[in-house]
This record gives sequence, C-alpha cells and structure tokens, in this order.
Amino acid sequence: MASGGRRPGDHRRCEGNKRDAVLDAVYIYDAPDAIGLNIGVVAQRLSELLPETRVQTRTDFFTYHIGQFDLPQVDVLTEEIAARLEEREVHNLVAPDRREDMRPMPPEERDLGIVYLAEPLQDVMRVLVPEQEGGETHLHLVYITQCIGHWAPGESSLTLQIIQHGRPTIISTTGFVEVPALPREYTFRRAQLLTFGMDEAAEELDERFAADALSHGDPRTTEVAAGYALQALFKRLFDEEGCGDPTCPLHSAATHDELARAHLDDAAGLCERHARMLMEARAENREDTGT
Ligand SMILES: [Zn+2]
Repeated sequence: MASGGRRPGDHRRCEGNKRDAVLDAVYIYDAPDAIGLNIGVVAQRLSELLPETRVQTRTDFFTYHIGQFDLPQVDVLTEEIAARLEEREVHNLVAPDRREDMRPMPPEERDLGIVYLAEPLQDVMRVLVPEQEGGETHLHLVYITQCIGHWAPGESSLTLQIIQHGRPTIISTTGFVEVPALPREYTFRRAQLLTFGMDEAAEELDERFAADALSHGDPRTTEVAAGYALQALFKRLFDEEGCGDPTCPLHSAATHDELARAHLDDAAGLCERHARMLMEARAENREDTGT
C-alpha cells in the first residue's frame, strides 16, 4: 500500500501532469556555518506534511556530492568547482551597465560576505546531482550562508534574494537577515555609528532591534528556513508562489516585520487554501499509488 509499493521510475506516468506529481524525495543540504539552522527540524516538518515522501538530510551540497566521486577525482573536481564558483562571485554590487558612472560597491562594504549570482550558482550545482536524483519528483533544497542575487532590469545595484527556485532550490540563510528591509531609522543610525567606529553602540542597537528583526545566528533561523522550504515545495508541486495571507509562510515578505508575521508569530502557519492544496495532493497520490 501507499509508498511501500512504489519503485523508482513509477512517477514517469505522472509526467506532463504536474498536478499529480507528489514528490518521491526531498534532499535537504545543511549550511554548517549557519548558526541557528537545524535542518533536522525542517526535515521533520516536511515529513509531517508529506508522509509518503522520503525526506533526507545531508551535509553541505558540495561536500556531499563531491564525496560521491572516487578519491583521485575529488581533488580535480574540488579545484574545478572552486574556479567555477569564483567566476560566479559578485565583487561589485553596481549593475554592469552603471559602472561607468558609479563608484564600485564591494560586498564587504555592506558586510555581506560572499555574494553569488543565483542562476549561475544553480548551474554549477545542477551538474553534480546524479541522474537518478534528478527530475520533477526529486526536490533538492540547498541551504547556504552566502548571499545570492540577480541583476534586475532598471536597478542600479544587485538585487539580493532569499530563494532561487529550480534545480536545485537554493535558500540563503544570510538572505533572511539581509533581504527584507529594515526600519529606515535603524539602518541610518547603524551606518552612522559604524562610520564613527562605534561598533559597540552598533551592537547595542542590533540587540534592541533583534526582538523584531531576525539577526545573524538567530535561533529562530530554523523557523524561517522551514517556511522557505514550504515555498520551495509549493513552487515545485503546484507552480505556486506567494500568498495574500500575511501569516502564511508562502507570503512574500518585503520587510522584517512581514517576515516575522509570516514565519515567527504564534498565528503563522499555512493558510487554509494552501493547507487544503497539500491535503488534496496527498489524497490524489494515495489513490494514484493503488490502494
Ligand atoms: Zn497561503
């Protein structure tokens, strides 16, 4: 019954009919440097929502997949990947077509650490996923601490993003902190303090805002990470993005207040419509697998 009788390849009959394509497997990759992230908890949440789906946690994406190769290949591959990643790193946040009239803006100036172009990073990752784990019914969720972004038309600088949907889905935990807008007063004061070298005062300011806004190493990181895992899930299962309900984790949060409301508040949780969509997909899947 149910998932017990399924074999790899069974999902083929679902091809071309996305509605029925309940996932065979979700692979969750850790970002070991992300303090406050517990992917075991994320995995458990997804398992509860999709009991028929195999949910597996893995170490960080590159370590895991490079580790699948034979030892002599590992060094060459590691070097090759490092070179490709370097090519996709953004060293100047100013849009390429604006660089003539704007001074360079290195990511360090904004304390962002390493920043990658999201789609090209995804391309580097995709080739490492083995064929048997590819396809619509396998979802790879890759958490990273590095930032990701893209050149949005008309914008003078890189647009940072939290999530890059696709294969694999990439979720930047640093993005939870850096992407949503902060209260203007806070950003202004903080920049002032740092300019004058008053790092301690800036830290105090951070602490005061930490109650509302998610900060680096925040223990609530896991909650937000689980919410974005749901966004990845709905995108893959139903091609569904965003939600009008501000307490639904699928809600696209533009500010830290909105992020807290969608993921951290007591009232936060899948809205009725989205909870129902998942239930219906599961019911269809059960009928499908020949009970
Ligand atoms: Zn919703």
